[in-house]
Amino acid sequence: MADDRLDETLPTPTPTPARARLEAEAPRKRARPVTPSTGRLRPLAVEQICLLDGFWHERQTRNAGATIPHCDRWILRMGWLANFHVAADGRGPSDRQGREFTDTAVYNLLEALAWESARAANISADARFGEIARIVASAQRPDGYLNTNFGQPGARPRYSDLEWGHELFCIGHLLQAGVARAQAVGLDDQLVAVAVRAADHVCKTFGPNGVTAICGHPEIEMALVEFYRLTGQRRYLEQARLFIERRGRGLLRAGEFGAQYFQDDIPIREAHVLHGHAVRALYLAAGAVDVAVETDDTELLNAVVDQWENTVARRTYITGGMGSRHFGESFGDDYELSPDRAYCETCAGVASIMLCWRLLLATGEARFADHIERALFNIVATSPGDDGTSFFYTNTLHRRIAGEVGDGDTASERAASGQRAPWYTVACCPTNLARLFASLGAYVATSSATGIQIHQYATARITAELDGDAVELEVRTSYPHDGRVTVRVHETPARPWTLSMRVPAWASGASMTVAGAVLAPQGGYLSAERTWQPGDEAVLDLPIRPRWTYAPDEIDAIRGCVALERGPVVYCVERPAEQTPHGQNFDINQIVINTDVEAQPCDRDAGTADSDAWLAEGSQRLEPDGDGSAWPYQPQPAVSRVTPARIVFTPYHSWGNRGPSTMRVWVPVGPPATGATS
Ligand SMILES: [Zn+2]
Repeated sequence: MADDRLDETLPTPTPTPARARLEAEAPRKRARPVTPSTGRLRPLAVEQICLLDGFWHERQTRNAGATIPHCDRWILRMGWLANFHVAADGRGPSDRQGREFTDTAVYNLLEALAWESARAANISADARFGEIARIVASAQRPDGYLNTNFGQPGARPRYSDLEWGHELFCIGHLLQAGVARAQAVGLDDQLVAVAVRAADHVCKTFGPNGVTAICGHPEIEMALVEFYRLTGQRRYLEQARLFIERRGRGLLRAGEFGAQYFQDDIPIREAHVLHGHAVRALYLAAGAVDVAVETDDTELLNAVVDQWENTVARRTYITGGMGSRHFGESFGDDYELSPDRAYCETCAGVASIMLCWRLLLATGEARFADHIERALFNIVATSPGDDGTSFFYTNTLHRRIAGEVGDGDTASERAASGQRAPWYTVACCPTNLARLFASLGAYVATSSATGIQIHQYATARITAELDGDAVELEVRTSYPHDGRVTVRVHETPARPWTLSMRVPAWASGASMTVAGAVLAPQGGYLSAERTWQPGDEAVLDLPIRPRWTYAPDEIDAIRGCVALERGPVVYCVERPAEQTPHGQNFDINQIVINTDVEAQPCDRDAGTADSDAWLAEGSQRLEPDGDGSAWPYQPQPAVSRVTPARIVFTPYHSWGNRGPSTMRVWVPVGPPATGATS
């Protein structure tokens, strides 16, 4: 898709006096989740993109005020931070709490706090980071090993269960927290020192002269590459490369889920689609992109792009969710995308964004930013409730019966998807969300040798440097409610540069107006090159209106069905168990939609509290005569009696916020009912 590629190549950065001055004046403006040394686009830092208002600002603010403190409280309450005291004291496993990978939640919380202190100069986040870091540091062994579950007196030996032990997975998250911290405050920091010792321990243990092994859960690969980017120490990159190349050769015991669960069945260069455990597959692919970019390995990069293309084409839900099998939390076969059995772990949505972001930076292709947007609005925005303190672990697309209200005080099993839970016994998702929301600004825009690219739309202030000269942009929009995005230039060099704005694949008819001239899109971006003046504006208009999206025949489970989308948002039909006086009083499992009629804006009188509701015409199948206990399979097609129904669609990301409910995204298309009853 060469047309979707920004025709810009990032040259090797050359220090200039102006750049040196800027970096000296703003030495901390470099906190980025991913910092490739080469690639078509250059990431901006979380301090350079300040979300000011709207959909994502609201969620980032809630993350800082509610989600991060909530995660901190639950980690304390579950005893997962105390596990570091247990390890430091040399106490045995009987004093340790939780599953083998709970250290990860602590590290992800640290990473979220690091982004918060970088993003918002948050003093309390910084202080809390220091407190937790001291406790973590106390558990590290003199040789750099750090894990609360293995190697203690009475516990299993280190690396004795690489399939399920998650030791390198945990260290990977420690390194990512260390990178975030180093970027926020510099290398002279206690947790950064802990991370350096842990990374060196990994290289010594598993390096060319060490044990030829891999971890059951990929993650350490991308963490080591980022550590290389941070420190310049090539041994970390080489270790990541070794882990990538070793996988797929049967080093792990296959176990009940088989070798493909661990992606240990086929070398990554030879695979053509993501498979096995979804989060594992996506983390591995992200690490492979990092290695490919830093080692100039085009074959490896192309292999991952090929896998991504086939996965998006045949193994991805309309929400951007990935992983359709509850068994093994894994990708299913091609087109195995049943809506009511969708697993779609929240972490797989986060991981998909991590992969797409790396591919976007490497290639400059808009399609990767499109899929970041899809996963953001329909997985990442869906998992946390309006309170910011409850979360979906899985993200089903069809809930047939209303879930039950939990007591809000008990950790849930991971796959309960009827209602959001405050915490999970496997609690990867809440802290994974926390670190993404805290660093979200960094995913909005990039720079290159010739300009600035805006990939995601939010009211924000963007500052960047173009060859040492400052650029400041103000973005105003109410996206995704409205498709107008206005970019006002506040500061600019007095020479030409290019402003590019992504045009999502659904946005046919999009245009950009600059100084009275209307521009048409080329590939995935609308670009304007000119000598910008302070006060200049570029106005992007994206056609945001409801659209019916039809299911492909290949996905048997939704053949003949349609979904409602509007802009980047997927909608659903939801029926709360506690009905309002004017609520949808039909069984959502019995409805059909008439797509000849466009969905219309719905006022609040229609019985929904959601201001973003759309009314469609359809029918409800009436219950057949009898008690419903008869054998349902018959020699003739069923003829249903139907009655007209007005069906309200609301954003999928807001479902389940008003108590237990039934919900569906895909609805069968059917003929309209011709009378009150037919
Ligand atoms: Zn998770």
